[in-house]
Amino acid sequence: MPKWFANTVETVFSGLLKEVTVTKVEYFDEHFKKVRFEGDLSKTNFSVGNVVEFRVNETDFRHYTPCFYDKEAGICDVLFYLHSLGVGSDWAEGLKKNDTLKLIGPGGRIKLNTQARRHLVFGDETSLGLMHFFQTAVHPEQGLEMIVEVNDWFQYWPDELGVVAHIAKKSQENPAKDAIRIWESIHNDTWNDATFYLTGRAKSIQNFRKALQYKGVPNKQIMCEPYWADGKTGL
Ligand SMILES: Cc1cc2nc3c(=O)[nH]c(=O)nc-3n(C[C@H](O)[C@H](O)[C@H](O)COP(=O)(O)OP(=O)(O)OC[C@H]3O[C@@H](n4cnc5c(N)ncnc54)[C@H](O)[C@@H]3O)c2cc1C
Repeated sequence: MPKWFANTVETVFSGLLKEVTVTKVEYFDEHFKKVRFEGDLSKTNFSVGNVVEFRVNETDFRHYTPCFYDKEAGICDVLFYLHSLGVGSDWAEGLKKNDTLKLIGPGGRIKLNTQARRHLVFGDETSLGLMHFFQTAVHPEQGLEMIVEVNDWFQYWPDELGVVAHIAKKSQENPAKDAIRIWESIHNDTWNDATFYLTGRAKSIQNFRKALQYKGVPNKQIMCEPYWADGKTGL
């Protein structure tokens, strides 16, 4: 959006913006970075799965999913996947201790369904923060399965980041093909007591959703939130 419009958005929604400071930065390698934002978040409402938004330059905003959020303590942690392909990634790469920013939100389409007996989370490198949060938030009696579609050279990263997930191969031509194969191998009934959370690459979500529908999973059990789309800037 034009700079003047981005400024207007910030002014009009100033009540919804929370000033936060970067208090901790942790690099896992050149592609994964965890950043802690601290500020007064006491008036915010957060549900696990929700996202926050930041203005990443004069004209662009980007969404990110907290991997930890404590409104009373005023802490929001985000795990950034740094792919160096766009302004969001460049902005995240540049974040350093003592930077002050405005956090927008939280909100979004995904929200942990606490009534569900089982949960299946699907995503990719950008979803590892979400997966991390689900792991700590889902009650042990509620089943949690996670499938993460990653590039070959990132296969060990979920484990390094403490995310217990089935690893699916990422395919340019057949989005979610391996993830669907994994899902079919672990699903042994209709999963009619489950909620499905589909995140990450838009094309993979589309295919995974079709596979679930084909198996008879009703739409009301499926939550989708694309995090990025091939050839498209900023979702
Ligand atoms: C609701 C929501 C939650 C999100 N949560 C997180 C999160 O927790 N952590 C996180 O790291 N990111 C997350 N993202 C993605 C993040 O907001 C940015 O969209 C992403 O970093 C790309 O922004 P960019 O400006 O760098 O690239 P863009 O300018 O948006 O895209 C530039 C080019 O890079 C390609 N591209 C973008 N992302 C990827 C990718 N992952 N792999 C391959 N190619 C890509 C695009 O197709 C495009 O061709 C989330 C997005 C949404 C919408």
